[in-house]
Amino acid sequence: MEATKDFKVTLTQNSRLKDITLQNIPFGKCFTDHMLVADYSGGQWHTPEIMPYQALSFEPSLAVFHYGQAIFEGIKAYKAKNGSVQIFRPMDNFQRFNASAVRMQMPEVPEEIFMEGLRALIDLDKDWVPDFENHSLYIRPFMISSDHAIGVRPSENYKFLIILSPTGPYYAKPMRIYVEEKYVRAVPGGIGFAKAAGNYGAALYPSTEAHKKGYDQVLWMDAYEHKYVQECGTMNVFFIIGDKAITPGLEEGTILAGVTRDSVITVLKEMGLTVEERPLTIDEITEAYKAGQLKEIFGTGTAATIAPIKELGYKDFAMLFDVDKWTVAPEVKRRMDAIRYGDVEDRHNWLWTV
Ligand SMILES: *Cc1c(COP(=O)(O)O)cnc(C)c1O
Repeated sequence: MEATKDFKVTLTQNSRLKDITLQNIPFGKCFTDHMLVADYSGGQWHTPEIMPYQALSFEPSLAVFHYGQAIFEGIKAYKAKNGSVQIFRPMDNFQRFNASAVRMQMPEVPEEIFMEGLRALIDLDKDWVPDFENHSLYIRPFMISSDHAIGVRPSENYKFLIILSPTGPYYAKPMRIYVEEKYVRAVPGGIGFAKAAGNYGAALYPSTEAHKKGYDQVLWMDAYEHKYVQECGTMNVFFIIGDKAITPGLEEGTILAGVTRDSVITVLKEMGLTVEERPLTIDEITEAYKAGQLKEIFGTGTAATIAPIKELGYKDFAMLFDVDKWTVAPEVKRRMDAIRYGDVEDRHNWLWTV
């Protein structure tokens, strides 16, 4: 295939595919036969190499271990009914990846490496895209600083990699969410809008505390007043109040601009709802609940698509929902799935066929 001509390709001698059933594999534990690695040094990116999935070796001084210049993306590829492999909006992930790179003082990855690398790698491992209902191939591009030196400064060397992981259906069990008023995820001027590894590391303690209280995740609030809603765990969050859908806006740079978020906004509008992207306080939410106007709350992200929230706990007050009676979230999910598995026309040009 055309795109592979610029890549060095070393094929595996021993595909693991024959020993694996691609059904119901737990998320993120199984990887395909090949990966892509591109190195940055001397101020430029070098020819990427597609090689058998394997361990990398580093000295203990590897910069990323110490100062955390690390960013990533999450994308999914689906096996369509006609047998083709469709990737969902990868250009948006590519652009977001480079926005994260800039904020983390890392070099931007050229489109030929990210997008054509993705195409070549998936084309090579396309038999790994599961052909079962609700299954997909999870794509994980990432970049790390790779100087062997522990001085605090931006690295001169970086590695960009793409690995692929077949995944089963993500059953988004309705969640119990806790309004977090002590710990924060993001501040204006910080790195909340970047898909940086450190955002995840810093969230593990508060989410573990929430688990201990019996919740699945936290609802992050703004850092100054703990009053404005930001995100739900590692997902964007939508509130259906009356006949409107409300989700926090992106202006402050404290919210990750989800590709699913953007797609869901489009789908909600097509369903005839008014969508508002604006600041939303916990008081407005509580009052809407008490007035019987708060109908549904759900998280959105590549992994789950739509994750319904059946309970929102704020201080001593529990807002409870009968998820089975919802109409909006299930319809959004149905429409998103129909597009991704190629059951309806892709009117927004969201799919990228390999
Ligand atoms: C990745 C991510 C999301 C969801 O983004 P998608 O592009 O929809 O997968 C939302 N919030 C955070 C913090 C994230 O890291």
